[in-house]
Amino acid sequence: MPDSCPPVCVWLKRDLRVDDHAALAEALARARGGAVFAVFVYEPEVLAQPEWDSSHTAFQAECLADLEAALRRKSIRLVTRRGEAVASLEHLRNETGFRLLVAHEETGTGVTYARDRRVRRWARTAGIELLEVPQTGVVRRLATRNGWNRLWEKRMTAACASVPRSTGRGGGDVVERLGSLGILGCRELGLPADTKDRQRGGERAASEVLEDFLTRRGCHYSGGISSPVSAATSCSRLSPALAFGAISMRRVWQASEARRLDVQAALAAAVSPREKAECKAWQRSLKGVQSRLHWHCHFMQKLEDEPAIEFENMLRAADGLRESEVVPERLAAWQSGHTGYPLVDACMRSLLATGWLTFRMRALLVSFASYSLWLHWRPTGLHLARHFLDFEPGIHWSQLQMQSGTTGINTLRIYNPTKQAIDQDPRGIFIRRWVPELAGLPPAYVHMPWTMPVDVQQTSGCIVGRDYPAPLVDHAVAVREAKRRLAIVRNAPESRAEARDVAHRHGSRKDRRGAMQQDPVRRTLFGDGGDSAGRSKRRPSPPVRDPQQMLDPQQLLPFLTEDLAAEVAHDTQSENR
Ligand SMILES: Cc1cc2nc3c(=O)[nH]c(=O)nc-3n(C[C@H](O)[C@H](O)[C@H](O)COP(=O)(O)OP(=O)(O)OC[C@H]3O[C@@H](n4cnc5c(N)ncnc54)[C@H](O)[C@@H]3O)c2cc1C
Repeated sequence: MPDSCPPVCVWLKRDLRVDDHAALAEALARARGGAVFAVFVYEPEVLAQPEWDSSHTAFQAECLADLEAALRRKSIRLVTRRGEAVASLEHLRNETGFRLLVAHEETGTGVTYARDRRVRRWARTAGIELLEVPQTGVVRRLATRNGWNRLWEKRMTAACASVPRSTGRGGGDVVERLGSLGILGCRELGLPADTKDRQRGGERAASEVLEDFLTRRGCHYSGGISSPVSAATSCSRLSPALAFGAISMRRVWQASEARRLDVQAALAAAVSPREKAECKAWQRSLKGVQSRLHWHCHFMQKLEDEPAIEFENMLRAADGLRESEVVPERLAAWQSGHTGYPLVDACMRSLLATGWLTFRMRALLVSFASYSLWLHWRPTGLHLARHFLDFEPGIHWSQLQMQSGTTGINTLRIYNPTKQAIDQDPRGIFIRRWVPELAGLPPAYVHMPWTMPVDVQQTSGCIVGRDYPAPLVDHAVAVREAKRRLAIVRNAPESRAEARDVAHRHGSRKDRRGAMQQDPVRRTLFGDGGDSAGRSKRRPSPPVRDPQQMLDPQQLLPFLTEDLAAEVAHDTQSENR
């Protein structure tokens, strides 16, 4: 291997694609005659996280299979290893002599955040140049949220990274001879089989979903995404692909923008009222989906700026509200879909079976857990994370806190599960599908089975309390009490002051639409300056709380699995990240 052009290593994590892959593009540009190869490491500590599920492994394997073939076409070898990240990378370095390691920035869980810091330390010590490049609108080491929207737009409108064929030969023989484990599935990784009837992984599947959404299904997005009856086809269904990086946020945004401009032109040329109505429906839908793509990064930015929100209330004044009162039976009933509230149970069972739910129904599940059952958001959030195929830590934990009333800056969103059932599933189609015990109920009772007279229970084959549970709690009574408790916390003068601080750190700013529409130059493709690669130091988190007020793992022990309890104990003791 000529010393002048050693191979360059690209470390793949949640960026399993070749299209718009800035890390691969950067590696190829910097290879200077060296071969480029990619490594994916199966990390036991990631697989052991309580957020991880076999469905994630299966989806990931499909992504990797697609990616391996695409990389081969570009003369780039994919090598997989199993072990701790630093040890695996060090081993590869010894084998190949690489001096440049390129990866995408990740806003992940506490485990991957700590791992990335270890890798950075190792690279510094070993004299390896570690280049981390952004792949979403999340900005590392952001000093203030002011102006973030413009940075986001700049990223989204920048040219997608093009990944040419690798022509470098330096170290190519060594790379060819590298040992690789191939693509590992659940069995090889010692995980239970994936039983979910879920979306398929891979770059090709992601492109097909995007194309289908933008040319066909997306017309019904506006108006079709709240009801669980229509949402599965009306929503884009891009979230797992975005979470695993099988498609880039920029590619999705640019495709939606191209479609928006097409629709605009079609509307100008439309003659018949039908054509015009259809174009306007598309316009509403595309506007809706583009806002949500922006939210994606907006929520991730919160975790990037303050990693502690994965574990701790954003509003510290909310500490102690729920921690000591979690009733294990309530958590278990909610987790399995046996609360006695039909839509809540149908949502949970559908999620367990498919790995996906629409936003409104996710919010309903959390609202019911947090307000009606008074459960702390951390264990409920872990359960959901495990079963959401699209688990994205930044969105997830921010939403969990928002829907539980612990941010201090959002109005309380408390959903009435019966009203939601009547509004969103008036004929009980979704409920009957996922809660078969209720399939034979007359329409008048499917939303409130507990109101069924005894003779109707007998004729419909569903005895409440035997075949289907009676309501676990009285929603109205429970919510009254929840509001009372939260009001005490939120109205305290010190909470208001703290909430202002939270708003300053994390609140959205209003400059987005204006920035895009008023400045035509912004609509052209920008170079990606400003947020240069490799900025890894995060904004300091707020000071560590008074240990007396910290979530006491002992209080959570009764309802946590052993792994989880150990993790909570670890989290509460570890230094503030
Ligand atoms: C409690 C809770 C937890 C959530 N956890 C996750 C999560 O782990 N991963 C995740 O991707 N989304 C999460 N969401 C947001 C949202 O529910 C999903 O993004 C959406 O349902 C995914 O389906 P879709 O791709 O068809 O979305 P679409 O409605 O088609 O939206 C397109 C894309 O926009 C983004 N998006 C949509 N809604 C939101 C939102 N409210 N906030 C931020 N980004 C959004 C997603 O990337 C999504 O893929 C959560 C919402 C709640 C209430």
